[in-house]
Amino acid sequence: MTTVTERIFNLNAGPAVLPVAVLEQVQRDLVSLPGVGMSVLEISHRSKPFEAIIGEAEADIRTLAGVPAGYHVLFLGGGASLQFSMVPMNLLPRDGKADYVLTGSWSKKAAKEAQKVGTVQIAATTEPESFARIPQQGELTLDPAAAYAHITTNNTIFGTEWWYDPQTGDVPLVADASSDIFSRPIDVARYGLIYAGAQKNLGPAGVTLVIVREDLLARAPQGLPTMLDYRTHAENKSLYNTPPAFAVYVVGLVVKWMLAEGGLDAMGRRNAQKAKRLYDAIEASGGFYRPHAKPDSRSHMNVTFRLGSDDLEKAFLSEATQAGFAGLKGHRSVGGVRASIYNAFPSEGVDALVSFMREFQRHNG
Ligand code: PMP
Repeated sequence: MTTVTERIFNLNAGPAVLPVAVLEQVQRDLVSLPGVGMSVLEISHRSKPFEAIIGEAEADIRTLAGVPAGYHVLFLGGGASLQFSMVPMNLLPRDGKADYVLTGSWSKKAAKEAQKVGTVQIAATTEPESFARIPQQGELTLDPAAAYAHITTNNTIFGTEWWYDPQTGDVPLVADASSDIFSRPIDVARYGLIYAGAQKNLGPAGVTLVIVREDLLARAPQGLPTMLDYRTHAENKSLYNTPPAFAVYVVGLVVKWMLAEGGLDAMGRRNAQKAKRLYDAIEASGGFYRPHAKPDSRSHMNVTFRLGSDDLEKAFLSEATQAGFAGLKGHRSVGGVRASIYNAFPSEGVDALVSFMREFQRHNG
Protein backbone atom coordinates (compact mmCIF):
# COMPACT_ATOMS: atom_id res chain seq x y z
CA MET A 1 0.00 0.00 0.00
CA THR A 2 1.23 3.46 -0.81
CA THR A 3 -0.10 6.96 -0.34
CA VAL A 4 2.44 8.66 -2.58
CA THR A 5 0.05 9.62 -5.37
CA GLU A 6 -2.01 11.69 -2.94
CA ARG A 7 0.89 13.85 -1.87
CA ILE A 8 1.05 17.54 -2.72
CA PHE A 9 4.11 19.82 -2.77
CA ASN A 10 4.97 20.59 0.86
CA LEU A 11 6.80 23.88 1.34
CA ASN A 12 6.23 24.08 5.09
CA ALA A 13 8.99 25.68 7.19
CA GLY A 14 8.90 22.99 9.86
CA PRO A 15 7.76 20.42 10.63
CA ALA A 16 8.44 19.90 6.98
CA VAL A 17 8.65 17.52 4.07
CA LEU A 18 10.35 14.16 4.70
CA PRO A 19 11.71 11.72 2.11
CA VAL A 20 8.89 9.56 0.75
CA ALA A 21 11.13 6.49 0.96
CA VAL A 22 11.48 7.08 4.70
CA LEU A 23 7.75 7.57 5.23
CA GLU A 24 7.10 4.35 3.34
CA GLN A 25 9.59 2.43 5.44
CA VAL A 26 8.05 3.80 8.64
CA GLN A 27 4.64 2.73 7.35
CA ARG A 28 5.88 -0.72 6.37
CA ASP A 29 7.68 -1.38 9.64
CA LEU A 30 5.33 0.39 12.01
CA VAL A 31 3.25 -2.52 13.22
CA SER A 32 6.25 -4.77 13.66
CA LEU A 33 9.92 -3.89 13.38
CA PRO A 34 11.55 -6.60 11.26
CA GLY A 35 12.74 -9.39 13.54
CA VAL A 36 11.27 -7.74 16.64
CA GLY A 37 7.53 -8.44 16.38
CA MET A 38 6.60 -5.18 18.11
CA SER A 39 6.53 -1.61 16.88
CA VAL A 40 9.23 0.91 17.71
CA LEU A 41 6.55 2.75 19.71
CA GLU A 42 6.12 -0.17 22.06
CA ILE A 43 9.60 -1.27 23.04
CA SER A 44 11.82 -0.27 25.93
CA HIS A 45 14.43 2.35 25.22
CA ARG A 46 16.78 -0.01 27.05
CA SER A 47 16.02 -2.97 24.79
CA LYS A 48 18.59 -4.37 22.37
CA PRO A 49 16.59 -3.31 19.28
CA PHE A 50 16.33 0.30 20.45
CA GLU A 51 19.96 0.41 21.52
CA ALA A 52 20.80 -0.68 17.99
CA ILE A 53 18.53 2.03 16.52
CA ILE A 54 20.01 4.89 18.53
CA GLY A 55 23.55 3.53 18.19
CA GLU A 56 23.23 3.30 14.40
CA ALA A 57 21.66 6.76 14.18
CA GLU A 58 24.66 8.16 16.02
CA ALA A 59 27.20 6.20 13.95
CA ASP A 60 25.52 7.23 10.69
CA ILE A 61 25.50 10.90 11.73
CA ARG A 62 29.22 10.64 12.49
CA THR A 63 29.83 9.18 9.03
CA LEU A 64 27.52 11.59 7.22
CA ALA A 65 28.95 14.77 8.75
CA GLY A 66 32.50 13.54 9.43
CA VAL A 67 32.11 14.24 13.15
CA PRO A 68 35.64 14.06 14.58
CA ALA A 69 36.56 11.95 17.62
CA GLY A 70 36.22 14.02 20.75
CA TYR A 71 32.68 15.16 19.95
CA HIS A 72 29.51 13.79 21.55
CA VAL A 73 26.39 13.28 19.44
CA LEU A 74 23.30 13.67 21.65
CA PHE A 75 19.58 13.25 21.09
CA LEU A 76 17.70 15.52 23.48
CA GLY A 77 14.16 16.70 24.10
CA GLY A 78 12.85 20.25 24.49
CA GLY A 79 13.38 21.50 20.94
CA ALA A 80 16.02 23.91 19.75
CA SER A 81 14.42 26.41 22.13
CA LEU A 82 15.65 24.48 25.16
CA GLN A 83 19.16 24.78 23.72
CA PHE A 84 18.78 28.58 23.90
CA SER A 85 18.91 27.99 27.68
CA MET A 86 21.08 24.88 27.96
CA VAL A 87 23.95 26.43 26.01
CA PRO A 88 24.44 29.35 28.42
CA MET A 89 23.59 27.28 31.50
CA ASN A 90 26.42 24.90 30.64
CA LEU A 91 28.95 27.19 28.97
CA LEU A 92 28.47 30.70 30.34
CA PRO A 93 29.69 31.46 33.86
CA ARG A 94 27.57 33.97 35.85
CA ASP A 95 30.37 36.52 35.63
CA GLY A 96 31.20 35.58 32.04
CA LYS A 97 30.33 37.06 28.66
CA ALA A 98 29.11 35.50 25.43
CA ASP A 99 29.02 37.02 21.93
CA TYR A 100 25.79 36.70 19.95
CA VAL A 101 25.37 37.60 16.30
CA LEU A 102 21.78 38.68 15.68
CA THR A 103 20.56 37.66 12.24
CA GLY A 104 16.89 37.05 12.94
CA SER A 105 14.14 36.26 15.43
CA TRP A 106 15.65 32.97 16.57
CA SER A 107 19.06 34.44 17.37
CA LYS A 108 17.32 37.19 19.35
CA LYS A 109 15.47 34.56 21.33
CA ALA A 110 18.70 32.67 21.96
CA ALA A 111 20.41 35.86 23.16
CA LYS A 112 17.48 36.69 25.46
CA GLU A 113 17.82 33.36 27.26
CA ALA A 114 21.59 33.77 27.61
CA GLN A 115 21.04 37.17 29.23
CA LYS A 116 19.35 35.37 32.12
CA VAL A 117 22.59 33.52 32.81
CA GLY A 118 25.45 35.94 32.14
CA THR A 119 26.40 38.95 30.03
CA VAL A 120 25.46 38.94 26.37
CA GLN A 121 27.44 41.07 23.94
CA ILE A 122 25.97 41.72 20.50
CA ALA A 123 28.82 40.96 18.11
CA ALA A 124 26.77 42.27 15.19
CA THR A 125 23.15 42.74 14.22
CA THR A 126 21.48 43.22 10.86
CA GLU A 127 18.14 44.11 12.42
CA PRO A 128 18.22 47.72 11.07
CA GLU A 129 18.33 46.14 7.60
CA SER A 130 15.32 43.91 8.32
CA PHE A 131 17.68 40.98 8.75
CA ALA A 132 18.11 40.84 4.97
CA ARG A 133 21.74 39.77 5.15
CA ILE A 134 24.43 38.02 7.17
CA PRO A 135 27.21 40.29 8.49
CA GLN A 136 30.69 39.80 7.07
CA GLN A 137 33.62 38.70 9.20
CA GLY A 138 34.96 42.27 9.31
CA GLU A 139 31.71 43.50 10.86
CA LEU A 140 31.84 41.14 13.84
CA THR A 141 33.02 42.62 17.13
CA LEU A 142 34.32 39.50 18.79
CA ASP A 143 35.69 39.40 22.32
CA PRO A 144 38.67 37.03 22.75
CA ALA A 145 37.61 36.63 26.39
CA ALA A 146 34.05 35.51 25.55
CA ALA A 147 32.96 32.08 26.80
CA TYR A 148 31.63 31.36 23.30
CA ALA A 149 30.27 33.05 20.18
CA HIS A 150 26.78 32.12 18.96
CA ILE A 151 25.39 32.22 15.43
CA THR A 152 22.20 30.99 13.73
CA THR A 153 23.46 29.34 10.55
CA ASN A 154 20.15 29.66 8.69
CA ASN A 155 17.45 32.17 9.49
CA THR A 156 14.25 30.29 8.82
CA ILE A 157 11.99 33.34 8.97
CA PHE A 158 14.04 35.85 6.97
CA GLY A 159 15.61 33.41 4.51
CA THR A 160 19.29 34.15 5.03
CA GLU A 161 22.14 31.70 5.55
CA TRP A 162 25.80 31.95 6.61
CA TRP A 163 28.02 31.10 3.67
CA TYR A 164 31.22 31.18 5.72
CA ASP A 165 32.28 29.83 9.11
CA PRO A 166 33.20 32.91 11.15
CA GLN A 167 36.71 32.98 12.61
CA THR A 168 36.46 33.19 16.38
CA GLY A 169 40.04 32.33 17.34
CA ASP A 170 40.13 30.26 20.52
CA VAL A 171 36.56 31.18 21.43
CA PRO A 172 34.27 28.18 20.82
CA LEU A 173 31.73 28.77 18.07
CA VAL A 174 28.19 27.65 18.94
CA ALA A 175 25.66 27.27 16.13
CA ASP A 176 21.91 26.91 15.97
CA ALA A 177 21.73 24.91 12.74
CA SER A 178 18.05 23.98 13.09
CA SER A 179 17.04 24.91 9.58
CA ASP A 180 20.09 24.01 7.48
CA ILE A 181 21.66 21.09 9.32
CA PHE A 182 23.07 18.53 6.87
CA SER A 183 21.90 20.52 3.85
CA ARG A 184 25.54 20.75 2.69
CA PRO A 185 28.99 19.71 3.95
CA ILE A 186 29.89 21.05 7.40
CA ASP A 187 33.30 21.28 9.04
CA VAL A 188 32.28 20.18 12.53
CA ALA A 189 35.79 20.76 13.89
CA ARG A 190 35.23 24.51 13.43
CA TYR A 191 32.46 24.40 16.03
CA GLY A 192 32.37 23.85 19.77
CA LEU A 193 28.69 22.98 19.77
CA ILE A 194 26.04 22.58 17.07
CA TYR A 195 22.36 22.13 17.84
CA ALA A 196 19.32 21.56 15.65
CA GLY A 197 15.68 20.73 16.17
CA ALA A 198 15.00 17.74 13.93
CA GLN A 199 11.79 18.90 12.30
CA LYS A 200 13.23 20.41 9.12
CA ASN A 201 16.02 18.37 7.55
CA LEU A 202 16.35 15.54 10.04
CA GLY A 203 12.99 14.03 10.88
CA PRO A 204 9.92 14.64 13.01
CA ALA A 205 9.56 17.14 15.83
CA GLY A 206 10.43 15.93 19.31
CA VAL A 207 14.16 15.36 19.16
CA THR A 208 17.01 17.86 19.05
CA LEU A 209 20.45 16.92 17.81
CA VAL A 210 23.39 18.30 19.79
CA ILE A 211 26.99 17.81 18.68
CA VAL A 212 29.33 19.04 21.40
CA ARG A 213 33.10 19.00 21.89
CA GLU A 214 34.14 16.92 24.88
CA ASP A 215 36.27 19.57 26.60
CA LEU A 216 33.32 21.98 26.80
CA LEU A 217 31.35 19.62 29.04
CA ALA A 218 33.67 20.33 31.95
CA ARG A 219 32.58 23.96 31.99
CA ALA A 220 29.14 23.24 33.43
CA PRO A 221 28.75 24.68 36.92
CA GLN A 222 27.98 22.47 39.88
CA GLY A 223 24.34 22.26 40.87
CA LEU A 224 22.93 22.37 37.36
CA PRO A 225 19.66 20.37 37.20
CA THR A 226 20.58 16.87 36.04
CA MET A 227 18.46 16.95 32.89
CA LEU A 228 19.91 20.32 31.83
CA ASP A 229 23.53 19.20 32.15
CA TYR A 230 25.09 17.97 28.88
CA ARG A 231 27.30 15.61 30.91
CA THR A 232 24.25 13.61 31.99
CA HIS A 233 23.33 12.89 28.39
CA ALA A 234 26.90 12.38 27.18
CA GLU A 235 27.69 9.92 29.98
CA ASN A 236 24.46 7.99 29.38
CA LYS A 237 24.55 8.01 25.55
CA SER A 238 21.26 9.96 25.47
CA LEU A 239 19.58 7.23 27.54
CA TYR A 240 19.57 8.81 31.01
CA ASN A 241 15.80 9.04 30.71
CA THR A 242 13.37 7.86 28.03
CA PRO A 243 14.43 9.65 24.85
CA PRO A 244 11.94 10.63 22.11
CA ALA A 245 12.34 7.13 20.73
CA PHE A 246 10.12 7.33 17.67
CA ALA A 247 11.68 10.61 16.55
CA VAL A 248 15.18 9.17 17.00
CA TYR A 249 14.15 6.15 14.92
CA VAL A 250 12.92 8.35 12.05
CA VAL A 251 16.03 10.56 12.23
CA GLY A 252 18.08 7.37 11.84
CA LEU A 253 16.16 6.49 8.68
CA VAL A 254 16.50 10.01 7.27
CA VAL A 255 20.27 9.94 7.85
CA LYS A 256 20.50 6.57 6.08
CA TRP A 257 18.53 8.10 3.20
CA MET A 258 21.01 11.01 3.02
CA LEU A 259 23.95 8.59 2.94
CA ALA A 260 22.31 6.53 0.21
CA GLU A 261 21.64 9.68 -1.83
CA GLY A 262 25.35 10.53 -1.83
CA GLY A 263 25.86 12.29 1.52
CA LEU A 264 26.28 15.98 2.22
CA ASP A 265 28.11 16.78 -1.03
CA ALA A 266 25.11 15.51 -2.97
CA MET A 267 22.67 17.31 -0.65
CA GLY A 268 24.62 20.55 -1.10
CA ARG A 269 24.73 20.30 -4.89
CA ARG A 270 21.06 19.47 -5.16
CA ASN A 271 19.99 22.20 -2.76
CA ALA A 272 22.12 24.78 -4.59
CA GLN A 273 20.49 23.86 -7.90
CA LYS A 274 16.98 23.95 -6.45
CA ALA A 275 17.55 27.32 -4.79
CA LYS A 276 19.19 28.80 -7.89
CA ARG A 277 16.21 27.93 -10.06
CA LEU A 278 13.88 29.67 -7.65
CA TYR A 279 16.02 32.78 -7.12
CA ASP A 280 16.65 33.03 -10.88
CA ALA A 281 12.90 32.97 -11.47
CA ILE A 282 12.42 35.71 -8.88
CA GLU A 283 15.16 37.83 -10.45
CA ALA A 284 13.77 37.27 -13.94
CA SER A 285 10.33 38.55 -12.92
CA GLY A 286 11.34 42.18 -13.41
CA GLY A 287 10.33 43.18 -9.89
CA PHE A 288 7.00 41.33 -9.80
CA TYR A 289 8.52 39.00 -7.18
CA ARG A 290 10.79 40.85 -4.74
CA PRO A 291 13.37 38.82 -2.85
CA HIS A 292 13.87 39.68 0.82
CA ALA A 293 17.45 38.47 1.26
CA LYS A 294 20.50 40.15 -0.27
CA PRO A 295 22.19 38.00 -2.95
CA ASP A 296 25.29 37.02 -0.94
CA SER A 297 23.21 35.91 2.07
CA ARG A 298 20.42 33.97 0.39
CA SER A 299 19.30 30.79 2.06
CA HIS A 300 19.13 27.56 0.09
CA MET A 301 16.49 26.32 2.53
CA ASN A 302 13.97 29.14 2.93
CA VAL A 303 13.37 31.39 -0.06
CA THR A 304 11.51 34.53 1.01
CA PHE A 305 9.91 37.08 -1.27
CA ARG A 306 7.08 39.57 -1.50
CA LEU A 307 4.71 40.74 -4.19
CA GLY A 308 3.65 44.29 -4.98
CA SER A 309 0.67 44.48 -2.59
CA ASP A 310 -1.04 42.58 0.22
CA ASP A 311 -3.92 41.77 -2.11
CA LEU A 312 -1.60 40.32 -4.72
CA GLU A 313 0.12 38.21 -2.04
CA LYS A 314 -3.24 36.95 -0.79
CA ALA A 315 -4.25 36.00 -4.33
CA PHE A 316 -0.88 34.31 -4.93
CA LEU A 317 -1.13 32.25 -1.75
CA SER A 318 -4.71 31.27 -2.35
CA GLU A 319 -4.10 30.20 -5.97
CA ALA A 320 -0.92 28.37 -4.93
CA THR A 321 -2.91 26.40 -2.36
CA GLN A 322 -5.47 25.54 -5.06
CA ALA A 323 -2.66 24.41 -7.33
CA GLY A 324 -1.29 21.98 -4.73
CA PHE A 325 1.50 23.95 -3.02
CA ALA A 326 1.23 23.86 0.78
CA GLY A 327 2.93 26.05 3.36
CA LEU A 328 3.98 29.05 1.25
CA LYS A 329 2.70 31.75 3.59
CA GLY A 330 5.57 33.77 5.04
CA HIS A 331 6.08 33.91 8.81
CA ARG A 332 3.63 36.32 10.45
CA SER A 333 6.49 38.63 11.51
CA VAL A 334 7.65 39.18 7.91
CA GLY A 335 4.65 38.45 5.71
CA GLY A 336 4.87 37.66 2.04
CA VAL A 337 5.86 34.28 0.71
CA ARG A 338 8.33 31.72 1.98
CA ALA A 339 9.20 28.59 0.05
CA SER A 340 10.98 26.11 2.31
CA ILE A 341 12.83 23.69 0.07
CA TYR A 342 14.63 21.40 2.51
CA ASN A 343 16.66 18.32 1.52
CA ALA A 344 13.59 16.16 0.95
CA PHE A 345 11.73 18.70 -1.18
CA PRO A 346 11.81 17.31 -4.71
CA SER A 347 13.41 19.09 -7.61
CA GLU A 348 10.18 18.64 -9.65
CA GLY A 349 8.41 20.61 -6.95
CA VAL A 350 10.71 23.56 -7.56
CA ASP A 351 10.10 23.32 -11.32
CA ALA A 352 6.36 23.17 -10.72
CA LEU A 353 6.51 26.20 -8.40
CA VAL A 354 8.54 28.20 -10.92
CA SER A 355 5.98 27.40 -13.64
CA PHE A 356 3.16 28.39 -11.32
CA MET A 357 4.91 31.69 -10.51
CA ARG A 358 5.38 32.51 -14.22
CA GLU A 359 1.76 31.70 -14.93
CA PHE A 360 0.55 33.81 -11.98
CA GLN A 361 2.63 36.74 -13.19
CA ARG A 362 1.25 36.40 -16.72
CA HIS A 363 -2.27 36.79 -15.38
CA ASN A 364 -1.57 39.44 -12.77
CA GLY A 365 1.55 41.30 -13.95
N1 PMP B 1 16.04 27.99 15.71
C1 PMP B 1 15.67 28.05 14.42
C2 PMP B 1 16.65 28.54 13.41
C3 PMP B 1 14.37 27.65 14.05
O1 PMP B 1 13.99 27.73 12.78
C4 PMP B 1 13.47 27.19 15.04
C5 PMP B 1 12.08 26.71 14.72
N2 PMP B 1 11.56 26.99 13.53
C6 PMP B 1 13.91 27.18 16.38
C7 PMP B 1 15.20 27.56 16.67
C8 PMP B 1 13.00 26.72 17.48
O2 PMP B 1 12.92 25.34 17.41
P1 PMP B 1 11.98 24.47 18.35
O3 PMP B 1 10.57 24.76 17.91
O4 PMP B 1 12.43 23.09 18.06
O5 PMP B 1 12.21 24.88 19.75
